[in-house]
Amino acid sequence: MENTKCLIIGSGPSGYTAAIYASRSDLKPIIYQGMEPGGQLTTTTEVDNFPGYPEGIDGAKMMEDFQKQAERFGADVRWGMVNDIDVSKRPFKVTVDDGTVLTAETIIIATGATAKYLGLESEEKFKGGGVSACATCDGFFYKGKDVAVVGGGDTAAEEATYLANMCRKVYLIHRRDKLRASKAMQNKVLKTANIEILWNHEVKEITGTVQGFIKALDGVILYNNDTGKEKRIDIEGFFVAIGHKPNTDIFKGKLDMDETGYLITKPDSTATSISGIFAAGDVQDKHYRQAITAAGTGAMAAIEAERFLG
Ligand code: NDP
Repeated sequence: MENTKCLIIGSGPSGYTAAIYASRSDLKPIIYQGMEPGGQLTTTTEVDNFPGYPEGIDGAKMMEDFQKQAERFGADVRWGMVNDIDVSKRPFKVTVDDGTVLTAETIIIATGATAKYLGLESEEKFKGGGVSACATCDGFFYKGKDVAVVGGGDTAAEEATYLANMCRKVYLIHRRDKLRASKAMQNKVLKTANIEILWNHEVKEITGTVQGFIKALDGVILYNNDTGKEKRIDIEGFFVAIGHKPNTDIFKGKLDMDETGYLITKPDSTATSISGIFAAGDVQDKHYRQAITAAGTGAMAAIEAERFLG
Protein backbone atom coordinates (compact mmCIF):
# COMPACT_ATOMS: atom_id res chain seq x y z
CA MET A 1 0.00 0.00 0.00
CA GLU A 2 1.28 3.47 -0.88
CA ASN A 3 2.50 5.48 2.11
CA THR A 4 3.16 9.23 2.18
CA LYS A 5 4.79 11.44 4.78
CA CYS A 6 2.17 14.09 4.24
CA LEU A 7 -1.29 13.89 2.73
CA ILE A 8 -3.11 17.13 2.04
CA ILE A 9 -6.86 17.02 1.58
CA GLY A 10 -8.27 19.98 -0.33
CA SER A 11 -6.95 22.41 -2.89
CA GLY A 12 -7.86 25.98 -1.98
CA PRO A 13 -5.26 28.55 -0.89
CA SER A 14 -4.61 26.65 2.35
CA GLY A 15 -4.14 23.24 0.69
CA TYR A 16 -1.84 24.51 -2.07
CA THR A 17 0.19 26.66 0.32
CA ALA A 18 0.62 23.65 2.61
CA ALA A 19 1.73 21.71 -0.49
CA ILE A 20 4.30 24.37 -1.45
CA TYR A 21 5.81 24.37 2.05
CA ALA A 22 5.63 20.59 2.53
CA SER A 23 7.24 19.84 -0.82
CA ARG A 24 10.03 22.35 -0.16
CA SER A 25 10.63 20.53 3.14
CA ASP A 26 11.00 17.29 1.19
CA LEU A 27 7.85 15.71 2.65
CA LYS A 28 6.80 14.75 -0.91
CA PRO A 29 3.18 15.58 -0.21
CA ILE A 30 0.26 14.04 -2.04
CA ILE A 31 -2.64 16.44 -2.42
CA TYR A 32 -6.17 15.33 -3.24
CA GLN A 33 -8.01 18.23 -4.82
CA GLY A 34 -11.57 17.35 -3.83
CA MET A 35 -14.78 18.08 -5.66
CA GLU A 36 -13.95 21.68 -6.52
CA PRO A 37 -10.25 21.94 -7.46
CA GLY A 38 -9.04 25.37 -6.38
CA GLY A 39 -11.87 25.75 -3.88
CA GLN A 40 -14.19 28.70 -3.32
CA LEU A 41 -11.93 31.21 -5.10
CA THR A 42 -12.70 29.57 -8.42
CA THR A 43 -16.26 30.85 -8.06
CA THR A 44 -15.27 34.50 -7.57
CA THR A 45 -14.19 36.80 -10.36
CA GLU A 46 -11.41 39.21 -9.59
CA VAL A 47 -9.30 38.84 -6.43
CA ASP A 48 -7.99 42.29 -5.54
CA ASN A 49 -6.94 41.82 -1.94
CA PHE A 50 -4.24 39.16 -2.21
CA PRO A 51 -0.82 40.82 -1.86
CA GLY A 52 1.48 40.41 -4.82
CA TYR A 53 -1.09 41.01 -7.54
CA PRO A 54 -1.14 44.80 -7.92
CA GLU A 55 -3.59 44.61 -10.83
CA GLY A 56 -5.78 41.95 -9.20
CA ILE A 57 -6.17 38.44 -10.55
CA ASP A 58 -8.95 36.10 -11.59
CA GLY A 59 -9.65 33.68 -8.69
CA ALA A 60 -9.45 30.54 -10.86
CA LYS A 61 -6.20 31.73 -12.47
CA MET A 62 -4.71 32.43 -9.05
CA MET A 63 -5.49 28.89 -7.95
CA GLU A 64 -3.89 27.50 -11.13
CA ASP A 65 -0.77 29.47 -10.23
CA PHE A 66 -0.83 28.12 -6.65
CA GLN A 67 -1.06 24.59 -8.07
CA LYS A 68 1.81 25.15 -10.54
CA GLN A 69 3.97 26.54 -7.75
CA ALA A 70 3.30 23.47 -5.59
CA GLU A 71 4.04 21.14 -8.53
CA ARG A 72 7.27 22.98 -9.26
CA PHE A 73 8.60 21.64 -5.95
CA GLY A 74 7.29 18.13 -6.56
CA ALA A 75 3.86 18.10 -4.90
CA ASP A 76 1.84 15.20 -6.30
CA VAL A 77 -1.51 16.85 -7.09
CA ARG A 78 -4.25 14.33 -7.72
CA TRP A 79 -7.83 14.56 -8.82
CA GLY A 80 -10.09 12.79 -6.31
CA MET A 81 -12.19 13.06 -3.24
CA VAL A 82 -11.09 11.53 0.06
CA ASN A 83 -14.17 9.89 1.46
CA ASP A 84 -12.94 8.05 4.55
CA ILE A 85 -10.09 8.30 7.04
CA ASP A 86 -9.09 6.01 9.86
CA VAL A 87 -7.51 8.09 12.63
CA SER A 88 -7.24 5.29 15.18
CA LYS A 89 -3.52 4.73 14.57
CA ARG A 90 -0.57 6.10 12.62
CA PRO A 91 0.04 5.92 9.75
CA PHE A 92 -3.53 7.00 9.08
CA LYS A 93 -5.45 5.01 6.48
CA VAL A 94 -7.24 7.07 3.85
CA THR A 95 -9.72 5.96 1.19
CA VAL A 96 -10.29 7.94 -2.00
CA ASP A 97 -13.47 7.85 -4.08
CA ASP A 98 -11.76 5.97 -6.96
CA GLY A 99 -11.09 3.10 -4.52
CA THR A 100 -7.43 4.01 -3.83
CA VAL A 101 -6.36 3.27 -0.26
CA LEU A 102 -3.16 4.80 1.07
CA THR A 103 -1.51 5.57 4.38
CA ALA A 104 -0.16 8.89 5.62
CA GLU A 105 2.26 9.76 8.43
CA THR A 106 0.65 13.19 8.73
CA ILE A 107 -2.51 14.69 7.29
CA ILE A 108 -3.30 18.33 6.59
CA ILE A 109 -7.03 18.93 6.27
CA ALA A 110 -7.78 21.87 4.00
CA THR A 111 -11.28 20.94 2.85
CA GLY A 112 -12.67 24.45 3.31
CA ALA A 113 -16.23 25.51 3.79
CA THR A 114 -19.08 25.98 1.43
CA ALA A 115 -21.17 29.14 1.47
CA LYS A 116 -24.85 28.42 1.78
CA TYR A 117 -27.06 29.88 -0.92
CA LEU A 118 -30.82 30.37 -1.00
CA GLY A 119 -31.26 27.82 -3.75
CA LEU A 120 -33.13 30.02 -6.24
CA GLU A 121 -32.70 29.44 -9.96
CA SER A 122 -32.22 33.18 -10.55
CA GLU A 123 -29.53 33.24 -7.83
CA GLU A 124 -27.58 30.55 -9.67
CA LYS A 125 -27.90 32.56 -12.89
CA PHE A 126 -26.19 35.64 -11.41
CA LYS A 127 -23.46 33.89 -9.39
CA GLY A 128 -20.13 35.53 -10.20
CA GLY A 129 -21.98 38.46 -11.80
CA GLY A 130 -24.09 40.28 -9.22
CA VAL A 131 -24.57 37.50 -6.66
CA SER A 132 -21.73 36.96 -4.21
CA ALA A 133 -21.19 35.25 -0.87
CA CYS A 134 -18.24 37.45 0.12
CA ALA A 135 -18.48 41.21 0.63
CA THR A 136 -14.77 41.54 1.39
CA CYS A 137 -13.99 39.90 -1.96
CA ASP A 138 -16.56 41.56 -4.20
CA GLY A 139 -17.91 44.64 -2.38
CA PHE A 140 -15.47 46.93 -4.14
CA PHE A 141 -17.24 46.38 -7.47
CA TYR A 142 -20.34 48.07 -6.04
CA LYS A 143 -18.77 51.31 -4.84
CA GLY A 144 -21.43 54.03 -4.78
CA LYS A 145 -24.18 51.60 -5.80
CA ASP A 146 -27.20 50.09 -4.04
CA VAL A 147 -26.83 46.51 -2.81
CA ALA A 148 -28.62 44.02 -0.58
CA VAL A 149 -27.43 41.49 1.95
CA VAL A 150 -29.62 38.56 2.95
CA GLY A 151 -29.30 36.97 6.41
CA GLY A 152 -29.63 37.95 10.05
CA GLY A 153 -26.52 36.54 11.73
CA ASP A 154 -23.09 38.02 12.50
CA THR A 155 -21.89 37.44 8.95
CA ALA A 156 -24.81 39.35 7.45
CA ALA A 157 -24.39 42.18 9.97
CA GLU A 158 -20.66 42.34 9.31
CA GLU A 159 -21.08 42.26 5.53
CA ALA A 160 -23.79 44.93 5.65
CA THR A 161 -21.65 47.32 7.72
CA TYR A 162 -18.61 46.62 5.55
CA LEU A 163 -20.61 47.38 2.38
CA ALA A 164 -22.21 50.47 3.93
CA ASN A 165 -18.76 52.10 3.95
CA MET A 166 -18.52 52.00 0.19
CA CYS A 167 -22.04 51.59 -1.19
CA ARG A 168 -24.73 54.23 -1.47
CA LYS A 169 -27.35 52.11 0.26
CA VAL A 170 -27.45 48.63 1.76
CA TYR A 171 -30.69 46.72 2.29
CA LEU A 172 -30.44 44.01 4.91
CA ILE A 173 -33.09 41.44 4.11
CA HIS A 174 -34.05 39.20 7.01
CA ARG A 175 -36.78 36.59 7.17
CA ARG A 176 -37.71 37.32 10.80
CA ASP A 177 -38.34 40.35 13.00
CA LYS A 178 -35.19 39.82 15.10
CA LEU A 179 -31.57 39.55 14.14
CA ARG A 180 -29.58 36.55 15.29
CA ALA A 181 -26.35 38.60 15.26
CA SER A 182 -24.58 39.53 18.51
CA LYS A 183 -25.85 42.67 20.27
CA ALA A 184 -22.69 44.58 19.38
CA MET A 185 -23.08 43.81 15.69
CA GLN A 186 -26.80 44.60 15.80
CA ASN A 187 -26.06 48.00 17.30
CA LYS A 188 -23.54 48.72 14.59
CA VAL A 189 -26.10 47.88 11.90
CA LEU A 190 -28.85 49.93 13.55
CA LYS A 191 -26.54 52.92 13.90
CA THR A 192 -25.47 52.91 10.27
CA ALA A 193 -27.56 55.47 8.42
CA ASN A 194 -27.39 53.91 4.96
CA ILE A 195 -28.46 50.41 6.05
CA GLU A 196 -32.18 49.73 5.82
CA ILE A 197 -33.39 46.52 7.40
CA LEU A 198 -36.26 44.83 5.62
CA TRP A 199 -37.77 42.70 8.36
CA ASN A 200 -39.87 39.61 7.65
CA HIS A 201 -38.85 39.51 4.02
CA GLU A 202 -37.85 36.56 1.91
CA VAL A 203 -36.27 36.69 -1.50
CA LYS A 204 -38.47 35.37 -4.26
CA GLU A 205 -36.46 36.20 -7.32
CA ILE A 206 -33.37 38.02 -8.48
CA THR A 207 -33.84 39.99 -11.68
CA GLY A 208 -31.57 41.32 -14.38
CA THR A 209 -30.19 40.46 -17.78
CA VAL A 210 -27.64 37.94 -18.96
CA GLN A 211 -26.03 38.25 -22.37
CA GLY A 212 -23.34 35.64 -22.82
CA PHE A 213 -20.78 36.31 -20.09
CA ILE A 214 -22.18 39.76 -19.33
CA LYS A 215 -24.51 39.71 -16.36
CA ALA A 216 -26.35 42.76 -15.06
CA LEU A 217 -28.38 42.25 -11.93
CA ASP A 218 -30.95 45.02 -11.43
CA GLY A 219 -33.14 44.06 -8.48
CA VAL A 220 -34.82 41.52 -6.26
CA ILE A 221 -38.44 40.66 -5.73
CA LEU A 222 -39.25 40.17 -2.06
CA TYR A 223 -42.10 38.53 -0.24
CA ASN A 224 -43.24 39.92 3.10
CA ASN A 225 -44.08 36.85 5.15
CA ASP A 226 -46.01 39.01 7.64
CA THR A 227 -48.34 40.82 5.24
CA GLY A 228 -48.15 38.43 2.28
CA LYS A 229 -47.29 41.36 0.01
CA GLU A 230 -44.58 41.42 -2.63
CA LYS A 231 -42.25 44.27 -3.45
CA ARG A 232 -39.27 44.99 -5.62
CA ILE A 233 -36.08 46.80 -4.72
CA ASP A 234 -33.58 48.09 -7.26
CA ILE A 235 -30.04 46.93 -6.51
CA GLU A 236 -26.93 45.96 -8.47
CA GLY A 237 -25.25 43.60 -6.02
CA PHE A 238 -26.77 40.82 -3.93
CA PHE A 239 -24.78 39.33 -1.07
CA VAL A 240 -25.82 36.04 0.45
CA ALA A 241 -24.78 35.76 4.11
CA ILE A 242 -26.87 32.93 5.48
CA GLY A 243 -23.97 30.92 6.83
CA HIS A 244 -21.27 28.54 5.71
CA LYS A 245 -21.01 24.82 6.09
CA PRO A 246 -17.52 23.54 6.88
CA ASN A 247 -16.68 20.47 4.80
CA THR A 248 -16.11 18.14 7.72
CA ASP A 249 -18.67 15.36 7.27
CA ILE A 250 -16.01 12.64 6.97
CA PHE A 251 -14.32 13.74 10.21
CA LYS A 252 -17.44 13.59 12.41
CA GLY A 253 -16.82 11.57 15.55
CA LYS A 254 -13.10 11.36 14.68
CA LEU A 255 -11.77 14.86 15.29
CA ASP A 256 -12.99 17.49 17.74
CA MET A 257 -15.24 20.09 16.16
CA ASP A 258 -17.44 22.87 17.49
CA GLU A 259 -21.22 22.77 17.50
CA THR A 260 -21.33 24.11 13.93
CA GLY A 261 -18.90 21.53 12.57
CA TYR A 262 -15.70 23.62 12.35
CA LEU A 263 -12.57 21.66 13.30
CA ILE A 264 -11.03 22.81 16.55
CA THR A 265 -7.32 23.55 16.46
CA LYS A 266 -5.03 24.21 19.42
CA PRO A 267 -4.31 27.90 20.16
CA ASP A 268 -1.57 29.37 17.92
CA SER A 269 -1.38 26.10 16.04
CA THR A 270 -3.10 24.06 13.35
CA ALA A 271 -2.94 20.85 15.44
CA THR A 272 -6.27 19.05 15.74
CA SER A 273 -7.33 16.71 18.54
CA ILE A 274 -5.39 13.86 16.88
CA SER A 275 -1.64 14.08 16.98
CA GLY A 276 -0.25 14.21 13.41
CA ILE A 277 -3.41 15.66 11.88
CA PHE A 278 -3.51 19.39 11.16
CA ALA A 279 -6.25 21.65 9.85
CA ALA A 280 -5.80 24.81 7.81
CA GLY A 281 -8.02 27.35 6.10
CA ASP A 282 -11.78 27.81 6.30
CA VAL A 283 -12.40 24.32 7.68
CA GLN A 284 -11.13 25.66 11.02
CA ASP A 285 -11.84 29.38 10.61
CA LYS A 286 -15.27 30.94 10.73
CA HIS A 287 -14.05 34.45 11.45
CA TYR A 288 -11.69 35.60 8.71
CA ARG A 289 -12.29 33.30 5.72
CA GLN A 290 -9.81 35.10 3.49
CA ALA A 291 -7.49 33.58 0.90
CA ILE A 292 -4.53 35.20 2.61
CA THR A 293 -5.41 33.91 6.10
CA ALA A 294 -6.12 30.45 4.65
CA ALA A 295 -2.74 30.49 2.91
CA GLY A 296 -1.11 31.55 6.20
CA THR A 297 -2.56 28.64 8.12
CA GLY A 298 -1.61 26.30 5.24
CA ALA A 299 2.02 27.33 5.70
CA MET A 300 1.68 26.84 9.47
CA ALA A 301 0.24 23.33 9.01
CA ALA A 302 3.10 22.22 6.74
CA ILE A 303 5.72 23.60 9.15
CA GLU A 304 4.01 21.82 12.03
CA ALA A 305 3.79 18.56 10.05
CA GLU A 306 7.51 18.75 9.28
CA ARG A 307 8.38 19.41 12.94
CA PHE A 308 6.06 16.60 14.04
CA LEU A 309 7.89 14.13 11.81
CA GLY A 310 11.17 15.39 13.27
P1 NDP B 1 -25.73 32.03 11.36
O1 NDP B 1 -26.12 30.61 11.22
O2 NDP B 1 -25.42 32.58 12.69
O3 NDP B 1 -26.87 32.95 10.73
C1 NDP B 1 -27.46 32.66 9.51
C2 NDP B 1 -28.54 33.70 9.26
O4 NDP B 1 -29.06 33.46 7.96
C3 NDP B 1 -29.68 33.61 10.25
O5 NDP B 1 -30.13 34.88 10.59
C4 NDP B 1 -30.75 32.83 9.48
O6 NDP B 1 -32.06 33.24 9.78
C5 NDP B 1 -30.46 33.25 8.05
N1 NDP B 1 -30.83 32.19 7.12
C6 NDP B 1 -30.41 30.89 7.13
N2 NDP B 1 -30.95 30.22 6.09
C7 NDP B 1 -31.71 31.12 5.42
C8 NDP B 1 -32.51 31.04 4.26
N3 NDP B 1 -32.62 29.91 3.57
N4 NDP B 1 -33.18 32.14 3.87
C9 NDP B 1 -33.06 33.31 4.55
N5 NDP B 1 -32.31 33.47 5.65
C10 NDP B 1 -31.64 32.37 6.08
O7 NDP B 1 -24.48 32.20 10.33
P2 NDP B 1 -23.34 33.31 10.30
O8 NDP B 1 -22.53 33.01 9.09
O9 NDP B 1 -23.91 34.66 10.44
O10 NDP B 1 -22.46 32.99 11.58
C11 NDP B 1 -21.91 31.70 11.80
C12 NDP B 1 -21.11 31.71 13.08
O11 NDP B 1 -19.94 32.49 12.92
C13 NDP B 1 -21.87 32.30 14.24
O12 NDP B 1 -21.52 31.61 15.41
C14 NDP B 1 -21.36 33.72 14.31
O13 NDP B 1 -21.48 34.29 15.60
C15 NDP B 1 -19.91 33.53 13.90
N6 NDP B 1 -19.37 34.74 13.31
C16 NDP B 1 -18.69 35.60 14.11
C17 NDP B 1 -18.19 36.75 13.61
C18 NDP B 1 -17.44 37.64 14.53
O14 NDP B 1 -17.35 37.34 15.69
N7 NDP B 1 -16.90 38.72 14.03
C19 NDP B 1 -18.35 37.16 12.20
C20 NDP B 1 -19.11 36.20 11.45
C21 NDP B 1 -19.60 35.05 12.00
P3 NDP B 1 -32.73 32.94 11.21
O15 NDP B 1 -32.12 33.92 12.15
O16 NDP B 1 -34.18 33.17 10.95
O17 NDP B 1 -32.40 31.52 11.51
